[in-house]
Amino acid sequence: MTSENIDMASKDLWERAKTIYLSTLRTEEEIAQAESYFSMISSLSMKDGVLTIKTSNKFSADFLREKYADKLKTSLDLAGGDKNLLINFDYDPNSKTEIYIPKVEPVPRKQEPVAEIPQRTSIFKSTLPLEENYTFEEFVQGSSNSWAFAAAKGVANNPGQKSYNPLFIHGGTGLGKTHLMQAIGNELSKKNPYMSVCYLTAEMFLNEYVNALQQKGMESFREKYRSIDVLLVDDVQFLQRGKQCQDEFFNTFNYLTTKHKQIVMTSDVAPKNLPALEERLISRFEGGMVQEIEAPAYETRLAILKKKAENMVPSIPQNALEFIAEHIKSHVRAMEGALSKVHVSISINPTQHITSEYLSVILKNLIEKEQSLRKLTIKEIQECVSKKYGVSVQQILSTDRTQSLVTPRQLAMYISRKYTPKSLLEIATEFEKKHATILHGVKTIEKRLDVEDELKNTLEEILSEFGYKLSDKMD
Ligand code: ADP
Ligand code: MG
Repeated sequence: MTSENIDMASKDLWERAKTIYLSTLRTEEEIAQAESYFSMISSLSMKDGVLTIKTSNKFSADFLREKYADKLKTSLDLAGGDKNLLINFDYDPNSKTEIYIPKVEPVPRKQEPVAEIPQRTSIFKSTLPLEENYTFEEFVQGSSNSWAFAAAKGVANNPGQKSYNPLFIHGGTGLGKTHLMQAIGNELSKKNPYMSVCYLTAEMFLNEYVNALQQKGMESFREKYRSIDVLLVDDVQFLQRGKQCQDEFFNTFNYLTTKHKQIVMTSDVAPKNLPALEERLISRFEGGMVQEIEAPAYETRLAILKKKAENMVPSIPQNALEFIAEHIKSHVRAMEGALSKVHVSISINPTQHITSEYLSVILKNLIEKEQSLRKLTIKEIQECVSKKYGVSVQQILSTDRTQSLVTPRQLAMYISRKYTPKSLLEIATEFEKKHATILHGVKTIEKRLDVEDELKNTLEEILSEFGYKLSDKMD
């Protein structure tokens, strides 16, 4: 197969689907993991409506099928692929790692592929599946989230009601926004299986919109999002990236609300703190109900841990739950991480006596991280790094690609990303760059640190000025 035979349309489709899928992942680690799994793919070919994805051995083909088949199908759909497209995972021990895609052969009309395509109902169901354990029953109420909880319940009991429409939930990362939003979706779907409940992230909406534009599929895109009864859009701060897409969202928003369809959104900050969002959108968002989720207090943290530990075998002793609630305060996701560490350790060694000393040892990293999660700001990092390299903060923020500026710029991005809990969006805003530029910078430094001791020493020196060690890095 020569490169002249590469079908660019199919290659584009695959690349778009991959981008869409990666955009649904939450952390850089998940993205890096998926990218490394995708790099096992040695060839892609399209024939008779079947996309064959080949790797060089059976193990990796089985692995990709099991882990990614459904997700890639959804992403290929969203990327504008044929709805009947089938994915086949196969292997070829002689294959090279180069990806090529032979020309698509037209699918004969009558020969509709016969395979496990899920039966589509006439109503459109969610773009992304809902997590089934994100329910109201599993959500622990406390003073930090009681208003948001009550509002979410209100929506689930009476969707489309004016005073709750839209419902806008904001708050820091890992505090339960996605959980609460999906609880609305789960409850409404349970009550009425014919209701079209759609959950997706704003980033996916943006990607799908761009694809629809490129593929001239605007009409079906509009039709789809206007046929929904309940639209749940997670992390709307990402809408700030696309001006044109904001117009489309505005129109969809108006269409749905005039028809009394429910809209729920989440964001890391309140609507008025979304600087790149159009004024008219902000005022629409504020026109419904805005609720904040705050970090939970001790009692709520303990109650959440009890709930999460309820069905664990072997069971987690009360003093361990109290220890975690006392020491891990920043967000619920970190608490879950601590709980699972304790659980693993008890499972491995059931006779172990769980003392505070023992817990301090096994949770050492998490506790230290918690302590270092204090007020280090991105400005402080930019200032410290520029001083170290003898450049100005303005030069760090500029777009000048001279190497003597690129290194301090990327190092400052790396420290902001790895040693503070700031979101990617916050970092991108403070560096006046796109979020892909930040990710690229972070990755570059990561690779260089593996081989450049001098850079590692500089990083260590900068960190020590903040009282940090290299190992204070967040996961
Ligand atoms: P966010 O969307 O705000 O970043 P998530 O909804 O993803 O946070 O929550 C992170 C994790 O913490 C999830 O596993 C979620 O179930 C859990 N969680 C957060 N708050 C609560 C709560 N009040 N009760 C039970 N679980 C919670
Ligand atoms: Mg979330």
